[in-house]
Amino acid sequence: MNCGNPSTVSSSQHKTRPAAAPLLSRLASLAPALDAFIESASPASKEHATRPLERRLRRGLTTMWAEQSRRLLEHLGVFSWRFVAVEAQRPLVEAGPIPDDALARIWQSITSATGGPLASLLNGLAGDGIRRGHNAGTLDVGLSISFDVDHPLAVDYLSGYGASRVAGIDRTTMRELRSLLAQAAGSGWSYDFTAREIRRRFQGFSNPSVLGHIRDRAELVAVTEIGEAYEHGQWMVIERLREQGIQTDKAWLSAEDARVCDVCEPAAAAGWIPSGNEFPNGRHRPLGHPGCRCALTIRVADQSRVVPVG
Ligand SMILES: [Zn+2]
Repeated sequence: MNCGNPSTVSSSQHKTRPAAAPLLSRLASLAPALDAFIESASPASKEHATRPLERRLRRGLTTMWAEQSRRLLEHLGVFSWRFVAVEAQRPLVEAGPIPDDALARIWQSITSATGGPLASLLNGLAGDGIRRGHNAGTLDVGLSISFDVDHPLAVDYLSGYGASRVAGIDRTTMRELRSLLAQAAGSGWSYDFTAREIRRRFQGFSNPSVLGHIRDRAELVAVTEIGEAYEHGQWMVIERLREQGIQTDKAWLSAEDARVCDVCEPAAAAGWIPSGNEFPNGRHRPLGHPGCRCALTIRVADQSRVVPVG
């Protein structure tokens, strides 16, 4: 069992969920909801719900990185004398690389000028992702629970979320930038060559360049952030039902592709377990790792089915 592109997920995976069939007769009144349940709970339906949000996040990332690249090259022009002068064929490496505190100051000014729009976008998209996951969760259990954006579980998730995620993304970019500039200094790259490499590196963040279920950094960020929000929404359904004394079971549905995933496979193999328990991989819900496309599915636990709910 793998967990990447879910396009090859077979529907039989869901029809053979443990212990689902014997309960159907006792759930006759919920039959329409159960039809929706078959539709709702799968990595493929999760992907259907999250893809539009991922695309929008991807565009936001691409815009931010392009702006950061442009501003960075403007700033670095000041330091061009530190690089090897190609025309003279005379290394100037004794000048040393760009001082790290100068680089940090430049990066700080760039990130504080460019991160705002992405932080707002992330907050909006995460809110939408939570709502979509919540809706899928309510379809799963066949109960009508409207999504409440003011619920503490939603408010806590979204509080400071966009800004902190953008800061994390910027830290990763800075690490890449430092290592690239160290390589430039160590290898005696010219300023022009270095500038070209910086531009290429930034473009590469959102340019699909390799085969595989995660094509580039933009997709990894998008799948992870939107997927986490969606799973949090599903988790909210479990918690809100628990608050009302209704216990649930959960199962980890693994997507399939060519990439073997030993984090998600044991969780998927566990079948239905009580929602309060951890899966064998030590997690309560997907994602199993960045870029994971697995999905959770939930149902009202057997002992809770006698509780009249509206
Ligand atoms: Zn997974």
